[in-house]
Order: sequence, then C-alpha cells, then structure tokens
Amino acid sequence: MTDLLAARIRAALPKLELREKEPLSLHTSFRIGGPARLLALPGSGEELADLCRLLRSLGEKPLILGNGSNVLAPDEGLNCCVAVTARAEGSRIDGVMLEAECGASLTALSAKAAKEGLSGLVFAYGIPGTLGGALVMNAGAYGGEMKDVTAETRFLDADLNERVFRGPEQGFGYRRSAFTGDMILLSAKLRLEPGDPDFLREECRKLMERRRSSQPLELPSAGSAFKRPEGAYAAALIDQAGLKGLRVGGAMVSEKHAGFIVNAGGATASDVRRLLDTVRERVLSASGIVLEPEIRVL
Ligand SMILES: Cc1cc2nc3c(=O)[nH]c(=O)nc-3n(C[C@H](O)[C@H](O)[C@H](O)COP(=O)(O)OP(=O)(O)OC[C@H]3O[C@@H](n4cnc5c(N)ncnc54)[C@H](O)[C@@H]3O)c2cc1C
Repeated sequence: MTDLLAARIRAALPKLELREKEPLSLHTSFRIGGPARLLALPGSGEELADLCRLLRSLGEKPLILGNGSNVLAPDEGLNCCVAVTARAEGSRIDGVMLEAECGASLTALSAKAAKEGLSGLVFAYGIPGTLGGALVMNAGAYGGEMKDVTAETRFLDADLNERVFRGPEQGFGYRRSAFTGDMILLSAKLRLEPGDPDFLREECRKLMERRRSSQPLELPSAGSAFKRPEGAYAAALIDQAGLKGLRVGGAMVSEKHAGFIVNAGGATASDVRRLLDTVRERVLSASGIVLEPEIRVL
C-alpha cells in the first residue's frame, strides 16, 4: 500500500529521491538500524529546505542524517521521514574561503583544500562524516576541530527561517555547538590559510596511516563511543578496566582501540546499548569516572 505522506511529497517535490521502508543500516556506519518509514536524499541544501518546509506544512518533522557515522539507529526503525544530506555536497573555493553544503564529505573537503593549497583542514581527513554532522558536534581530531576554521554557518531555525551564525554565535565547545534541537544546517564557510599542496597532501596521508594503524577501520562502528572525560582518556579507562574484547551479542569493545565499540557481526542496536551501559558501569566502579556517550542514540 502506498504511503500517503510519500504520495504528497512526490506530488510537491517530483525531483526528490524518496524511498519507502528503507533500512537505516544502509545509511549508518554501524550498519545497524531498521526501516525508516520514508528516506529522502535531497540533492542540495535548497531541496533539503524545501522538504523540511513541506513536511512542516503536513504536520511532520524530519530526522536529519549526514553520513550516519555518529549515530545508533533503532532496530525497530523510525516512523518518520529521514532526510539524508550526503548528496547535498556542492562546494567552492573563493580565496581562502571554502564554502560547502551540509552533505559535503569532510574527507573530500579536506582533500580539496589540500589540493588547492589551503591549510587548516588536514585534521578532518579520514573523519567519515559530512560537514553538517561535523558542525553539530564540533568534530575534531589530532589537535584540530571545526571550531578553528568555521567562519559562518547557514541554517534553518526551529521556525524554518533561514539564518546565519558567525564566529562565537556558533557556540562551539568540546563535541558540542549551538546547533541543537530543531536547527537544520544548510551550508558553511570555512576560513583557511595559504599552504603548500604537496606538504598538505602528505600530512593527510600520514594522518590516514595513523588512523589505519590505531583504529578498527575494518569493522563497522560509529567512531569513539564515549567523550573524553575531564583529565582522562575514555579508551585508557576502558582498557584499564579490562574491557577490551567484551561482547554483548554482535557488539564488541574493539581489541585494537578500546574507545571504539564495533559491530563484530550481526550486532543490533540493543546489543550496542547494553554494551555501552555495561562499559559505563564497569569503568565507573573501576575508576569512579562517569563516561558520557559520544554516539547519538536515535
Ligand atoms: C571510523 C570512524 C572514525 C571517526 N573519527 C572521528 C574523529 O576523529 N573525530 C570526530 O569528531 N568524530 C569521528 N567520528 C565520528 C563521526 O564521523 C563524526 O562525528 C562526524 O562529524 C559525524 O558526521 P555525520 O555526517 O556522519 O553525522 P551523522 O552521524 O549523520 O549525524 C550526527 C548528528 O548530527 C545531526 N546532523 C547531521 N547533519 C545535520 C544537518 N545538516 N543539520 C542538522 N543536524 C544534522 C544528526 O541528526 C545527528 O544528531 C568517527 C566515526 C567513525 C565511524
């Protein structure tokens, strides 16, 4: 039976790619998650904005996903329209400014900046997310973070009015930003600096090598499962509590990097949630430190 909401969306936005009962496991780096009632793949920030406004007029609210690399999607799926932004990926360089749409891949943007001799985005090479997802949680690695380079962000506020936040208005802190709740990020301008393309490309290559040697990239995951607690490292605390290799169903604390929970085969969201809880309890009793999940449970 055709979904009435799908029919209305198709009538209003005939060019939008829309799928019914699409498994979220196909759109999350954990490879976990049941079907979304509807899954839309807007091709630009404008099409994403049109979809959000249409859904609002129909009394519906979308869930926005970038590359699904920081989320745990439920086994039972989601009874809403999920908008995956990864195809809204346009970008352009103007002087030292790199402007990109929310779905642009961080790694692709980092490579583009390096190729054009713009420095400041090497840290983002190898983070498997989109620009939008990275801004929401101020993604960072190897001493750099989005906060360092993001000059301004264009977004839809809770009333779906288009707005721009500049500099400190963006509220970046450790794995957080002002972009919470119902805000929908459309694009951003990154301020970079002139650099040498060969040097920058080599730096990107070295960072990817570091990732490959220290992270379990061969298995599905959502990156670091927990935020870094004040004055400590989550991975070290988990390791010291003797939890490497601990399993619940198909979910496992990585043997290679204790900060990662991996899908070792057939893991469900419930397996991952139970493992997250167990790790938190065991680290608390071993060290007295409370770990806060970095992964967003949808
Ligand atoms: C192997 C691996 C390594 C990783 N390494 C790192 C690392 O070094 N550093 C780091 O910080 N992270 C890392 N991550 C985590 C993840 O890649 C980053 O957090 C990334 O920025 C998430 O982007 P995404 O597009 O996948 O977001 P998603 O997971 O799709 O979404 C994350 C959150 O942002 C929201 N969101 C996404 N796009 C938008 C938008 N346009 N508007 C409004 N809300 C939006 C979603 O609703 C969700 O709440 C790693 C993950 C993996 C799997």
